[in-house]
Amino acid sequence: MRLVGKPVSKGVVIGEVLLYEPFKATPVVTYIEKSNVEQAVRAYEETRARAKAELDELEARMLERDPDKAAIIYAHREILLDPAMDEEIRNLIQNDLMSPDAAIDQTYSTYIMVLGKSKNEMMRERASDLRDVKTRLLRCWAGEKEQNLSSLEKPVIVVADDLYPSDTVSLDRENVLGIVTQVGGATSHTAIIARSYEIPAVLGIPNAMTKLTAGEQVVLDAVTGEVITGSGEEELAAYRAKAEKVKAELLETKTYLATEPVTTDGRHISVRLNVAAANDHELSGAEYADGCGLFRTEFLYLNGDHLPTEDEQYETYKKVLEAFGDKPVILRTMDIGGDKQLDRLELPKEDNPFLGIRGLRLSLVRPELFRAQIRAALRASVHGNLRIMMPMVGALDEIRKAKAFIAEQGAALDAEGIPWNHEVPVGIMIEVPSVALIADLVADEVDFVSVGTNDLTQYLCAADRMNPAVKPYYQDYHPGVFRMLGHIAKTFGAAGKPVSVCGELGGDTLAIPVLVGLGIDKLSMGLASMAAAKRVIRGLNMDEARALAEEVKNMKTETEIRARLEAFAAR
Ligand code: PEP
Ligand code: MG
Repeated sequence: MRLVGKPVSKGVVIGEVLLYEPFKATPVVTYIEKSNVEQAVRAYEETRARAKAELDELEARMLERDPDKAAIIYAHREILLDPAMDEEIRNLIQNDLMSPDAAIDQTYSTYIMVLGKSKNEMMRERASDLRDVKTRLLRCWAGEKEQNLSSLEKPVIVVADDLYPSDTVSLDRENVLGIVTQVGGATSHTAIIARSYEIPAVLGIPNAMTKLTAGEQVVLDAVTGEVITGSGEEELAAYRAKAEKVKAELLETKTYLATEPVTTDGRHISVRLNVAAANDHELSGAEYADGCGLFRTEFLYLNGDHLPTEDEQYETYKKVLEAFGDKPVILRTMDIGGDKQLDRLELPKEDNPFLGIRGLRLSLVRPELFRAQIRAALRASVHGNLRIMMPMVGALDEIRKAKAFIAEQGAALDAEGIPWNHEVPVGIMIEVPSVALIADLVADEVDFVSVGTNDLTQYLCAADRMNPAVKPYYQDYHPGVFRMLGHIAKTFGAAGKPVSVCGELGGDTLAIPVLVGLGIDKLSMGLASMAAAKRVIRGLNMDEARALAEEVKNMKTETEIRARLEAFAAR
């Protein structure tokens, strides 16, 4: 059987399938007969004992590998054994005749709700720990095994509906050979992380979880975008050979990593690095890049057991700034919402999260979060060449509010005598068409812009970037996308404001000649795309790039454009 999806991180691997289906607790309200009370209390006690045994084992494992995580597990056991909650659960079973799972659900949910509303950040953090323990208890009650991707027993190809940021940040990189998901495309969070970790990945295979079986051996061809089952020895040997060949090609391309991205007629195109995890591997790209064109700070919020404090953020920002020396680092303020949901924030559920409280919108309604981030960033500004950029901006008043907020935080630092660089440039991402269309007005209010083509394309084409069913409508090379990019480059360029592209299109070897031809001379991309991008730039001449851009802007369909770009690449 061959299943086909979108290859988003190149490579070929052969391995065993791990169906990753984390347990989801659903609210329950069931009652028991009075005669069953004793039995129910015993069942509750057994469930609690199972949960405790799991935590004991996990803690023992984590003490060796990751002492910080062990401390979290310790805290979870404290919650599990909390006498007040234990008594409440027993009371609900014995007096109100609730079934044990309903009693657990109700007790924990009440505490979670109260703590989640607290003004105190520590208390809100506690709510998220309680949620974890509740899920563990309800899963033990349901008799299901725990699944998580942070410590796997053996190498596997992970097959999931989608991976959440919380799964990917703690991913066991040694044992995850490949990733297959049912939803998501080339611009999804999972794709970005897979590329950053250099893990072969194919996304958007509907029903992959039902079509593939746990433990079966499959070939993941993340060049063609196929998952192949039932291969005979001969086919496996051919794929092993292909795996080696692809690895060698990737290595060969990597030799371009250290070269200067300059066109054949001498124009330097700035190639910058997108940072999404700030780990050593990613930051090793700093020396080959002209700076960091997009520092996605979300991982700080999605990782760990609590929201990052101002000091923790300061340390991370300082580390990234120092890794880039005097090269610019564009720190993007938190882009939470959309596909990057964070339960811990207790945000209201939205039917259309990509059109909801996301990015800067969230920062403006949760000023306490924004304040900590901006203070941390400004404090870190003395350690390098910092720029601040806001995501998901739709109108001028949002830009003004954000700038006023930043200025306020700067003034507060001054009052406290804390040093910061008063010249930090402030810019925005161009992701929402409304703001792109008033580029001339925006240009007066910002120091620079960077186009987030992942979102700009989804909002222009009205096609969810995560939903494979609308992939035919989410067209990376839609003529409208290139026309919009042309408008953005021309308008900001005329106002003397730097324009870059930091969406996946910026590192797309087929699209790069067009972007350069449209006048965009700053591209930012993940480390995995950098060498190939430099190779393309080094083979490009400005006149032919401009002519190509002109041609593309006047083409009618994506199919036509794609064919032209492929022909251009093969010239
Ligand atoms: C984009 O939208 O193109 C972008 C770079 O931001 P993200 O992918 O993190 O939404
Ligand atoms: Mg975006």
